Amino acid sequence: MRAVILAIGSELVGPDRLDTNSLALTAELRALGVDLAWKACLPDDESAIAEALRRALADAELVLVCGGLGPTADDVTREGVAAALGRTLERDPAIEAALAERFARFGYRMPEINRKQAMVIEGAVVLPNRRGTAPGLRVDLGERTVFLFPGVPAELEGLVAANLLPWLRERTGGDEAIETRGLRVACVPESEVETRIEPAYREFDREDITVLASPADVRVRVCARGDAATRRARLEAMLERLGQLLGQAVYTFEDAETLEEVVGGLLKRQARSVATSESCTGGLVAERLTRVPGSSEYFRGGLVVYANAAKVSLAGVSPATLAERGAVSLEVAGELAEGALARFESDFGLGITGIAGPAGETPGKPVGTVCFALAARSGATERIQLRLPGDRARVREGSSQVALDMLRRSLLGFPLHWNSSK
Ligand code: AMP
Ligand code: MG
Repeated sequence: MRAVILAIGSELVGPDRLDTNSLALTAELRALGVDLAWKACLPDDESAIAEALRRALADAELVLVCGGLGPTADDVTREGVAAALGRTLERDPAIEAALAERFARFGYRMPEINRKQAMVIEGAVVLPNRRGTAPGLRVDLGERTVFLFPGVPAELEGLVAANLLPWLRERTGGDEAIETRGLRVACVPESEVETRIEPAYREFDREDITVLASPADVRVRVCARGDAATRRARLEAMLERLGQLLGQAVYTFEDAETLEEVVGGLLKRQARSVATSESCTGGLVAERLTRVPGSSEYFRGGLVVYANAAKVSLAGVSPATLAERGAVSLEVAGELAEGALARFESDFGLGITGIAGPAGETPGKPVGTVCFALAARSGATERIQLRLPGDRARVREGSSQVALDMLRRSLLGFPLHWNSSK
């Protein structure tokens, strides 16, 4: 079965209201294996609604219309749908009585304008709304069906649960679904991820694999349909193949798992600890590590050393290194990492120093230049210098990601994949 969603409301085509109803509806449709062909937001305009409905009925068996069932003059969804179907609107005395009763219950007389909500499209089934005044409607058109729901999210949700879901389950059998899973990759640009997974696009269906990028974090989501066993087999096959293609850059095969959770899990299992000395990230790495419940087991503490004097007195960076190499240098990053490790007596120390911008550029060190170091109680200190893209927030976010990924790679015994200059 294919569906179309029409979200009606002039506010939805303006600059400050988001159509969240279609997201909620899509989640329900997917759970029952119904494909969304397309969706649209339309203004409260009768002819625009009528035209969109005609197009929707040409493309899908199920059309879900939400919004525009209110009592005010701008709400014209019933009229638009009736026009597209060539049907009249009829007053329903039972709805009118229920509306009057609802107002009476709250100690009000029903305003005249609410009578409009008792208008029903000829031949439609009325879907009672316990959470508000506008009932939903279902219009059966042989092979096709149109549902009309109010726009208020809580009312829509109630009507969907009581009417749409049972109706759909009866038709789909209830064991089919569209299921999504995903893996996540740190510190590899989106275009490189895309290039590496190219073979999977050919081996599976291109539209079942989606790449979603955010700063220094790329999600690859896979989608499968059918019964539970079919879905699981296909999702596993896709994730396994993508895992081969992306290799050690994959930090999790759980779409919702964060890098700090993965790193935390590794530290915990290996009974090892970490401490941080951060300059340009201002404590972001420590903040991310401590987002994870139970992080006190492996996170010893962190220094935020912005001023050079603080780098010296708190993190133990040598004044000579600062003078000779500058605060943003591999050498200072290394000493920050070693200082954190020594002061907190941890197994690992992370050091970060860089230029988040927009000011602070020096010759040879443009904005986005960040030096990272990972010191280990056993073994040499690893250091890398990168040039990260974006504005201040993005450079800082990306830097925290690089630092955490260095630690992840080290804990797993993977080499750093960056062109590291030690
Ligand atoms: P309506 O049923 O058009 O009178 O909508 C009532 C209220 O529900 C609107 O003022 C919006 O705040 C909200 N609403 C309507 N449509 C949507 C939508 N697609 N997504 C989220 N909220 C909506
Ligand atoms: Mg509206």
